[in-house]
Amino acid sequence: MPQVQRNEVRCRAGPSRVRPYLGGRVKITIDVDKCIGSGSCEMIAPGIFEVGNDGLVQLLNDSPSAEDHSAARTAAASCPTQVISVDD
Ligand code: SF4
Repeated sequence: MPQVQRNEVRCRAGPSRVRPYLGGRVKITIDVDKCIGSGSCEMIAPGIFEVGNDGLVQLLNDSPSAEDHSAARTAAASCPTQVISVDD
């Protein structure tokens, strides 16, 4: 297994694509009008997303720290309507 340096993360595209880990914060945005309230984002990243009483997602933290970036990206990828954006 190839070694990954501590300051790098591997892209899901494969081992040939390595992007530097910048250690900064990400910016999360949601197109709430297209949310169907499935709750998968909340299950994956409960500190960032929450489905409110109105059945729509609420963003609890739009700029999570580094340890929550992976969960935020996984939640975005799992959203059935693809309404979550996580930008560097
Ligand atoms: S996963 Fe997507 S559709 Fe489901 S509650 Fe979250 S934002 Fe809404």
